[in-house]
Amino acid sequence: MADYIYTMEIRLTPDQLKGVGLVQDVARAAGMNLYLTGGAIRDIISGFTIRDLDFTVQGNPLKLVKDFEKAGARITAVEEEVRTIFLALPGNARAEVSMARTEKFEKTGKPPLVMPATIHEDLRRRDFTVNAMALSLNEGSRGLLLDPFNGVADIEAKVIRILHNYSFLEDPSRLIRATRFAARFHWPIEERTQARYDAAKEGKYIDHILKSSIGHEIAALAHEDDPLNVVRMLEKEGWLEILHPHWTSAKVDVNGITALMKTRQQMVDLGYTPDAGPAVMYFLTSNFNEKETSDIQKMIPRKDLVEAWRDIEDHAKELAKRLMGKEAATPSRTWQLLSSARPEMVLFLAVTAKQQAVEQKIKNYLTKWRQVQQTLPLPEMTELLITPQLPEYPKLAHDVFLLLLDGKMRSRTERLKYLKPFAPPPPPPPPAPRRGRQPKAAAQAAAAGAPGAPPAKPGPKGKKGKAATAGQGPGPVAVAAPVPAKPDAKAKLAAKAAPPKVAEKAKAPAKPAKPTKAAAKPAAKPAKAAKKGKKK
Ligand code: ATP
Ligand code: MG
Repeated sequence: MADYIYTMEIRLTPDQLKGVGLVQDVARAAGMNLYLTGGAIRDIISGFTIRDLDFTVQGNPLKLVKDFEKAGARITAVEEEVRTIFLALPGNARAEVSMARTEKFEKTGKPPLVMPATIHEDLRRRDFTVNAMALSLNEGSRGLLLDPFNGVADIEAKVIRILHNYSFLEDPSRLIRATRFAARFHWPIEERTQARYDAAKEGKYIDHILKSSIGHEIAALAHEDDPLNVVRMLEKEGWLEILHPHWTSAKVDVNGITALMKTRQQMVDLGYTPDAGPAVMYFLTSNFNEKETSDIQKMIPRKDLVEAWRDIEDHAKELAKRLMGKEAATPSRTWQLLSSARPEMVLFLAVTAKQQAVEQKIKNYLTKWRQVQQTLPLPEMTELLITPQLPEYPKLAHDVFLLLLDGKMRSRTERLKYLKPFAPPPPPPPPAPRRGRQPKAAAQAAAAGAPGAPPAKPGPKGKKGKAATAGQGPGPVAVAAPVPAKPDAKAKLAAKAAPPKVAEKAKAPAKPAKPTKAAAKPAAKPAKAAKKGKKK
């Protein structure tokens, strides 16, 4: 049997996984049974990107609002009628928690009668088989997949299939959803479902779509990986005009959205998780007038999406201004500014920047400057025993990276000069091997001079000198760039590591012993080891 918890854990982003933990804790404390449902399960099993986490609880999630807030989630929308809350989880994870319910459609075009139900009953009111699964997150049954319509088989068959013949009649928004999923996954609509779909289209069921469903479908576009393709498919099927009567693909800034999705992918590849939703909405509606845009925004239930979309241009302008100012006067300062900006703003500005200098800075930030990270002076660092094991390594490596960004530390001499104060003391000599029942005097003599005895003098010095003259460092051009004036911080760190004192101490006891050739040999070992490490 498949281990769905394991699959979930490896497929979710770290933020999403933490979000599952958060929701689980809140539900458990409230004594409510919790399931991961809908698209989240579909995407975990099928391998597609998991956009949002859909949870279902047996109970009323509206009662959990305060608990969720206390746990660190933000409530972005509440739908009282279907008892669903929308959450922004720490990081960039979105979730919705809905009550397990039945829906009774009594009159076409009227909202259904909603009743609390079990998870099994809830799965029967879903749209498609691939969306009608639930994974238990409860003690005792954790990991159990409820799949009454064999959604797993339809994922394998890659088809979109309704659960019953009245599906589109009951809720015509499923016509739009079917088209959206078919466009997103490139899965065909199953034959009988297609027949029902065609009949629904002919019968103009869509005229009875609920206003709330229109809002959901508009918002769903924001999180598509290829929104342009989805919009074109919706247009072809006649659904785009349902979302807004004047919406056509001509309202879309095609170049903008293409560039946005390309840059987003680039950022994802670099390990960022920008929420492109507000920017996607911005480009999908670029050629609407203000009033029309505002009408569309009013339909969307998730207010956080609308706010971010409304503010996106102003925030981008602010960031552009800062990028043109003193704050970003050097590459290292620009790097720091962009690293502290929200990734979604970097993304949006990357494709909308009016000033060439801003565009170039973001371009460098996402491409060229990353390569500088590969030019850290590892030979010198290894030589000075500055390795990732040192607690101060990450900060030091970052500081060095910033200096390199600004074109400093080009020559080996400069690099060594900067790095030396951070070098830790050399490791203590290895203890003298015990030598059976040797007479005391012989043992002492061995300790002083025999092979394997502790080094009489730390040999690497000589080696180091050699290495220094060998000039292994790249910098063919020695830029007379002063090492950044941070002597205090450096001195502190150096004092912490206290290399000179300890080194002297290590040397002291060896002084009286005359270094013989045999004693010098093992002493060279650390240098050799360092060299080996360097090669790696
Ligand atoms: P996405 O990846 O776009 O989030 P999704 O399938 O998760 O796709 P949501 O809008 O997040 O879509 O809805 C979550 C789940 O709620 C769906 O998977 C489906 O089970 C159910 N659902 C949503 N809308 C409908 C609907 N109109 N009719 C029936 N079930 C629905
Ligand atoms: Mg979903």
